[in-house]
This record gives sequence, C-alpha cells and structure tokens, in this order.
Amino acid sequence: MVTLETFLNHLNQGLPVAAGSELQQFMTELSNEARKITIELNTVWHDPKEICELFSQLTGTRVDDSFRLFPPFYTDCGKNIHVGKNVFINAGCQFQDQGGITIGDDTLIGHNVVLATLNHHFDPEKRGDLIPAPVTIGNKVWIGANATILPGVTIGDHSIIAAGAVVTKDVPKDVIVGGVPAKVIKHLEKPEKTSKIEKERDNTGKRGKHMIYKEYQDLKLSALGMGAMRLPVIDGDDARIDEAAACQMVDYAMEHGVNYYDTAWGYHNGNSELVMGKALAKHPRESFYLADKFPGYDLSNMDKVEKIFEKQLEKCQVSYFDFYLFHNVCEMNIDAYLDEKYGIHEYLMKQKKAGRIRHLGFSAHGSYDVIKRFLEAYGKDMEFCQIQLNYLDWSFQDAKAKVELLQEYKIPVWVMEPLRGGSLAKLSEEDTARLKQLRPEESVPAWAFRFLQSISGVTVTLSGMSNFEQLQQNIHTFETDAPLNDTEMKELLEIADGMVRKIVLPCTACHYCVSHCPQGLDIPNLISLYNEHCFTKGGFIAPMAMSAIPEEKRPSACIGCRSCEAVCPQQIKISEAMADFAEKLGM
Ligand code: SF4
Ligand code: SF4
Repeated sequence: MVTLETFLNHLNQGLPVAAGSELQQFMTELSNEARKITIELNTVWHDPKEICELFSQLTGTRVDDSFRLFPPFYTDCGKNIHVGKNVFINAGCQFQDQGGITIGDDTLIGHNVVLATLNHHFDPEKRGDLIPAPVTIGNKVWIGANATILPGVTIGDHSIIAAGAVVTKDVPKDVIVGGVPAKVIKHLEKPEKTSKIEKERDNTGKRGKHMIYKEYQDLKLSALGMGAMRLPVIDGDDARIDEAAACQMVDYAMEHGVNYYDTAWGYHNGNSELVMGKALAKHPRESFYLADKFPGYDLSNMDKVEKIFEKQLEKCQVSYFDFYLFHNVCEMNIDAYLDEKYGIHEYLMKQKKAGRIRHLGFSAHGSYDVIKRFLEAYGKDMEFCQIQLNYLDWSFQDAKAKVELLQEYKIPVWVMEPLRGGSLAKLSEEDTARLKQLRPEESVPAWAFRFLQSISGVTVTLSGMSNFEQLQQNIHTFETDAPLNDTEMKELLEIADGMVRKIVLPCTACHYCVSHCPQGLDIPNLISLYNEHCFTKGGFIAPMAMSAIPEEKRPSACIGCRSCEAVCPQQIKISEAMADFAEKLGM
C-alpha cells in the first residue's frame, strides 16, 4: 500500500511515476486534499498566524512563524514543500512540489511564480508517466513576478531571477539571470572569468553527492570531464567501440556527478561522436554539457567547416554543442586556421550567435609561440583553452608558460592528458616511495590530479577512461580537493625532472650552436622535438610539428659536420641525435 512516506521516498529518489499506477492514484488523493486546504486559504480572510497554520497543514510540517504568504496560492500536492525562515511568497504562485521544493531562509518570491518539479516522459508511448526532479532555492534569493523554474534546477544563494524568466538550468550564487531560457545578466560579486571551486553537497537531485564543481560563467562544471577518445573497444580495434560498456560508463558518470563529456570528429575513427550521442540521448539535454571540435588537424577539412559541423550535430543527436573547439591548434595548421579564406572562425562565431555553440574555445598541442599567435588573432573570442597539462609537461612541454599566457588573456584552462597517456599512472619504485612518504593514502595516479588541483585557472580535467575501474577511481579522486603544499609540489617536480633527465638530451636552448650550422637548422627546436619523441616513445606531436618544417630544415638535412658540437656547453652529440631522429621519423 502506498503511504505518504513511501510516496515521497519514491519521488525524492527521482524515480518515475507510471501512468495509472497506484502511486499516481495516491498523487490524485494528495491533490484533492491540497485543494481543500487551498480553497480555505484562498477564499476566506486569514491573518498571518492563521496563514502559517494553514500552510503547515498543507505541507505537513510546521512552518516558522516568520513565514509570510499573500493568497491565493496553488499546489496540487503540498507535502513536499520545505521552507526556511523569513520566507515571503506573493500572491498567485503555483507550486508543483511532488518532486520536492526547498526554499532557503530570507527568500522572496514574487507574484505568479511557477515552480515545477515534474516532467512527462520523452517517449510518446510513455507520455503519461511523470519524472520528478527537485527545485532547490538557496538563501536570500529573490524571484521576480511571473518567473518559471523548471524541474531539477538549483538556485544559488543571493541570486536574483528577473521577472518573466524561464529558468532551465542551475543558477550559480550571486548572479542575476533573466530571459527565456534564463542566462546570467550580471554578477553581483566582482566578476571572475577564471574558475573557482565550489564543493557541491547533496542538493541537486541525481547529481553526485561529493563531486567537485567549478563555476564557469553561469554554469557549474564537474571538475572531472569524461574524454571519449579511449572508450572500451572490441578485440583491440579502435574503431569498434563496445557500445554497451561505453553507455554503462556514461550512466555511471552521470549518476556520480560528471556533467562534462568531450568527443571529437576523429576519435575512434569517427565513431566516438555516434556512441556518445547514443549514450547521452537517454539523459535530459540540460543535464550534461557536450563538447565537440572542428577537425583542423587534417588540412583537407579546412574548407568543410559547415558540412562537418552539421554532421557532428546529427551524429551526436543534439541541436547545439555546449562547448566547441578549434581542434589541435599547432605548427602544421596555424596558418590555415588564421587564413580568412576558409572562414572557420567567422562560421563558428555565427553558430555561437545562433545558439548552436554555447561556448567557443580551442585545444592546442602546439608550442607557446603558436598558441600566442592564435590568441593574438582570436583570443578575444576564446572562452576556454584545452592544453596538455601534467606535472611532467609543466617544464618539459612548457605547460607552465602556456598556463601563464592563458591567464594573461583570462582564459580558463581545460586539461587533457593529465596522466600523459598513462605514463604517470605508474612510477618507479623509488619515486613511488618518495610520494608515499608524503601522502601514504594517495595513489600514484591521484598525485597527477592533485597537481592539477594546485594550478590556478584549471577548470575541467579531461580523462579518457577505458574501463569502469579507471572511471570509479577518477570519480573518487575528484570527490576531494586536496592541492599540493609547497614541499609536495617541489618533490613532485623533482621526480618529473628526474624522469625527463633519464631519457632526453640536456639542451638548455642557449642557441650557441645555431649560427655554426651550415645548414641553418634550428637545432634547439629540433632537439626539443627529439626529446618529446623519445620520451613519448613515438606519438604524433613530433611528426606533426615536423610536417610544418621545410624539408631542407629537418634533421635529415644535417651533414654531420659537427661544427655545432664544438660550441655546445652541454656537449650534446647533436649530429648523432639528428641522424637518429631522421631515422625514427622516416622523413
Ligand atoms: S652537425 Fe648537423 S646540426 Fe650540427 S652544425 Fe653540422 S649540419 Fe648543423
Ligand atoms: S649549444 Fe647545445 S645546449 Fe645550446 S642550444 Fe645548441 S644544442 Fe642546445
């Protein structure tokens, strides 16, 4: 038998109510009971004390004496309304509270405000079913007349909802939102373009209880994003994604608070977008943020921006992307990306204006100078940037300087390769012991994430997880914000230096050698790429950069004269390195 307790327990878990079910019949009984009380409330004069009494009957819990309400007031349930102290509700409001309505202290609600907590099923065959999601309103919030707040929305403390707004997404604290759908119009605090950590507690319905969220403009992004470039595959074939396993991972990630998903045209031979589209389609569109990218890593795509963008929306089964990036800005494609004849920037800005791209940014594997060139051209329009950032690349790939450059432009950082393709998931026994001494409870992979938690400006960290275990571990790690202290940071960067020193050539980029080379090779740059190639044991970065260097300036052009070695203070055997590099690259 359905009781009030079992009914509320069911709905507060976000579970659907099937049409014609016992639960739905019970809902009708509650509605009748509520109407009896509201008829009394709305048709007879009552003083404030009597109104408090009637409202307490309606909600089934004693409201504080400071509560004020101007009738008429309408609800078809009442038993899942929870109000704090000193709350005021003006005349004509309608609360559909079966999914749960919580109103914080000192909150003011204007005339005719609608708070809705039930959706109907998207599937036409199940259209009569009801899907609950709570509305949670913080302290000292002001909701203007005729605003509508939709199911699942949380409104942060102190925020203002402008009259007539339709609020479809969470509202951070200390902002004014307005419009349909509502967007942030103004920050009530000093505005910050860079992110700030906010620890989310269990107040957002189905979201993870402990996931760290970061405020980004008017959004709350999970600090951990799911990268869809290393999804589980069948028989080791990168193009054959194990769809069932990938969907299960997405469901689990959603359930545990991950709301950022990153795919791209080229991942899994084009199948990542299709599988992510399917996996996310069963979740409400407003419950996740999807990122996709224009595949400019392939120059033959440059004149196809419109065709590719339309196809990406179709593959992902969405009508807009929350985040869209120029993919992999690097030496090889920077000229084409900046070339107006392709009109890529212009087209993407138009899509942004049309609401089909909500936030525009770029990812970069290129050098500091390439990123700088891109920023000089388009920096004012870039809202985020995704770079390879981890404690090894902090100095090895100049990531520190890149982060500082982005900070100059006030562009928040998205992180890719936090574990450097898995190479930071396991360290030598000696290095592991050094870390264990500092934090006995922390795993080796977790150190990579703690490092990122220590870097100002880092907002979303993407991890391309290939199995459930990695996903669970990463979610667990991102439930705690534990940045490194100075000693820990020093130790970790020393370990990184040691790892790099074991493999690479100790070039300091002093440039003494350059003027001695009869072939005019940019020796320090070539050695830097050689180091990267050796450390990564191959990979795409060095070949990609090399393709932008003319043949007569590549390592194969070295004639082995060794004039450079005579002046190198590090006594690097440059001619041997050039020969080895040329052989490794095969170009
Ligand atoms: S050995 Fe090669 S790199 Fe060095 S100076 Fe001669 S040609 Fe240039
Ligand atoms: S002289 Fe040696 S250390 Fe200096 S840039 Fe050339 S290779 Fe690097």
